[in-house]
Amino acid sequence: MPQHKFILDESRLPKAWYNINADLPVPPSPVLHPQTLQPVTPDFLGVLFPMSLIMQEVSTERYIEIPEPVREIYKLWRPTPMFRAVSLERALDTPAHIYYKYEGVSPVGSHKANTSVPQAFYNKEAGTKALTTETGAGQWGSALSMACNFFGLDLEIYMVKVSYGQKPYRRIIMENFGAKVFASPSDRTNYGRSVLKDNPDSPGSLGMAISEAVEVAATSNGAKKYSLGSVLGHVLMHQTVIGIEALEQMEMAGEYPDVVIGCAGGGSNFAGFTYPFLHQNFRNGKKTRVIAAEPASCPSLTRGKYTFDYGDTAAMAPVMKMHTLGHTFIPPGIHAGGLRYHGMAASVSAMVDHGDIEARACKQLETFQAAVQFMRTEGIIPAPESAHAIRVAIDEALACKKTGEKKVIAFNLSGHGHFDMMAYEQFNQGKLTDYEYPADKVDEAMKHLPKVA
Ligand SMILES: *Cc1c(COP(=O)(O)O)cnc(C)c1O
Repeated sequence: MPQHKFILDESRLPKAWYNINADLPVPPSPVLHPQTLQPVTPDFLGVLFPMSLIMQEVSTERYIEIPEPVREIYKLWRPTPMFRAVSLERALDTPAHIYYKYEGVSPVGSHKANTSVPQAFYNKEAGTKALTTETGAGQWGSALSMACNFFGLDLEIYMVKVSYGQKPYRRIIMENFGAKVFASPSDRTNYGRSVLKDNPDSPGSLGMAISEAVEVAATSNGAKKYSLGSVLGHVLMHQTVIGIEALEQMEMAGEYPDVVIGCAGGGSNFAGFTYPFLHQNFRNGKKTRVIAAEPASCPSLTRGKYTFDYGDTAAMAPVMKMHTLGHTFIPPGIHAGGLRYHGMAASVSAMVDHGDIEARACKQLETFQAAVQFMRTEGIIPAPESAHAIRVAIDEALACKKTGEKKVIAFNLSGHGHFDMMAYEQFNQGKLTDYEYPADKVDEAMKHLPKVA
């Protein structure tokens, strides 16, 4: 009988994060100030972030040490298990071997705690009293509220209004950890009030909630800093504990992946899992294919433009070169809320553009079919976001069935779906639909890109 689980001892918890800046095949594009569209200075970023995180953003050191207090909290759930999906392989009747790294074992049920903990730590160390942030379905908000609770920081969360109404359980988790949660757009910010004036029934979006959280931090005279759960370089780097562990677990399994896959919203769990494998491609002659899976209704990598754009809807956040659908684009209300972001991390975008990373778009129904097939074989209920990676892994395994190839496929299962039961119910009742790619709305949003010289 093949081995199903590959478990690392606590002593194997990584001591450093992997920083892809050291190995990027294309030089990073400058980050621009949202008003001047000139390269940002550290003092501009310093309004929002502590200097230690800004330095991580620009560092080209290949490894950055994980502080001991962060490692200690990581040990509540890390190292996370790696499984071989033996039952899924059998159900697919594929010669491929399928592995998955499971991040749903964190206390908040997703990979996001891997960066919320260090971000709270560095802010505490810098003397920050409170953080502000946004959250969509609530995964990031719950991860940051746990971390702020551990380090004694106050936290103000702007939660996309449609999720605030539909997903009360995650809000209650945040409140249990001591955070204050507001439905966005709210009447607490100039930006929120301006949106409500034009559209009192606005369902909100991640881009709007980011604008509110940024405004609160930027106008707090230094009392509050802002924290982002994805997209930025330091966030992606914190997530590399996933891939560093996975490399060791693949070695335990006596195999090396031909294909690695992650779902991509802003790119953090994808990068966290795959960048240590890309490091092996860049430095040690490995040839693993790296695939980012995204929703067909919010397809920044497969249909977006690789250009400079704002990180948020109100054009207050820094401008970066990335694959974008336009910062004013509001994606359809798919259930994979964590993948509803107009842009993508700069390094992921640069490497997709350069051909180091492939991207695949998955429709909502085929994604839920993959989620249910996975649950019925492996037993774990995946987050709808993670199910995009499962879809691509299954498709790769089915391709192997056709060709008879015995590929090794590994994907990141970024979180569990215990709070997504309404989505599964709609799927079971045949009420879930595929959204068409909203070409008109994207075309319209593309008119509002910043005019960078
Ligand atoms: C937030 C989230 C994502 C998407 O964010 P990334 O930064 O792209 O990883 C994916 N899966 C889960 C479970 C999430 O909570």
